[in-house]
Amino acid sequence: MMPYEEALDIVLSSCQNLSTEKVFILDALNRVLAEDVVSQEDRPSFDNSAMDGYAVRWEDIKEATEGSPAVLKLVGEMPAGAESSFKVQRGTAIKIFTGAPIPEGADTVVPVEYTETKDGLVFIKVSLKEGANIRRKGEELKAGDVVLKKGTIIRHYEVGILASLNKINVEVSRRPRVAILSTGDEIKDIGEPITKPSQIRTSNNYTLLAGVLSAGGIPYHLGIVQDDPEKLKSILSQMEDYDVFITTGGVSMGEKDYIKILASEVGVDVKFHKVRIKPAKPILFGTYNGGKGLFFGIPGNPVSCAMAFDLLVKPALLKMQGAKDYLPKILKARIKRDFYRRDAERREFVRAVWWWEKDTLVCDFSQKLQSHMLTSYVDANCYLVVREGVKEIKEGEEVDVILF
Ligand code: AMP
Ligand code: MG
Repeated sequence: MMPYEEALDIVLSSCQNLSTEKVFILDALNRVLAEDVVSQEDRPSFDNSAMDGYAVRWEDIKEATEGSPAVLKLVGEMPAGAESSFKVQRGTAIKIFTGAPIPEGADTVVPVEYTETKDGLVFIKVSLKEGANIRRKGEELKAGDVVLKKGTIIRHYEVGILASLNKINVEVSRRPRVAILSTGDEIKDIGEPITKPSQIRTSNNYTLLAGVLSAGGIPYHLGIVQDDPEKLKSILSQMEDYDVFITTGGVSMGEKDYIKILASEVGVDVKFHKVRIKPAKPILFGTYNGGKGLFFGIPGNPVSCAMAFDLLVKPALLKMQGAKDYLPKILKARIKRDFYRRDAERREFVRAVWWWEKDTLVCDFSQKLQSHMLTSYVDANCYLVVREGVKEIKEGEEVDVILF
């Protein structure tokens, strides 16, 4: 059976970059930048005050103390947005507000809390370093600097940065079109009546729809299809309309598990079926549409579905969009309890939670270890990785955790 790394490699090396399009920056949220974004100007674009206070000449205040303050004549006021018409001569000060341009002649700003005013005079009760509390032109960025690199995933911070650069529309990757189909005679969609005790409510459709959205894709809900080869085949034959096609259920060894055979029949070039992981072992992956489309046949157990999405599908969706950072993030943590399992053949990804304890990252795993228990994700924020061959992990040992 194929190890996880090899399966992930095959998936990633099958990803082809999607075309790009220009969108309004707010529509770029969660999507991948397809151009380098360059600053057109210095930032800040002028020297300005970092504090509310007084703009002064440093030589006037360099020896000021509480007991022997410097006494300066107040000659004007500079609110933010004002144009400077003042000149700060020796012995004078200008009242200044955060963000206002530094008036000519001034080289230091004294915060208001170190001052007092009386009869048109300012008493400065502290000496500061020359240049204190001035934000310098260009100290953050120079004109021509690359601010955001191609391949960046756009979060709300990047949206703000783009706005501050007056970049109104930005080139991003097209969103992958992802079809989601569940299979199984027993599965009912939300809102549908459950008429027999053997029927169950779907979670997988919605786990995947939401997962695809969060990874920047456009999910297409193809609903639930019975374990009926003819019906299944007719839906699978629409595969070419999508960049990625995901099915859940019907990929194991049961007699009703038709996905493998049908996938090949409709033109999927199957690259692997079964990976040495727990859960989601029977996962199937292949390409279609001349290698452009990715097909994932994920087993139906809800945890298998969520985990296969996180560890194989999501990295692929990000990579297709050209993201630099497409791999799951791994940290080291100390385990809080003994972990034991009988069968150590596969690499297991156990729902877990990490947190800081003093200055150590620690983790604990869910009590619900089985793959039908989706509520094992409640309060979980990572997978504890239990490697092949490892039966037992002792409290306090260092383990890998993969962040959600
Ligand atoms: P399968 O992979 O088809 O053998 O299904 C494995 C298990 O997952 C069975 O217990 C199914 O009832 C369950 N299952 C299959 N599809 C879904 C779904 N869409 N939502 C929740 N559970 C499912
Ligand atoms: Mg089934």
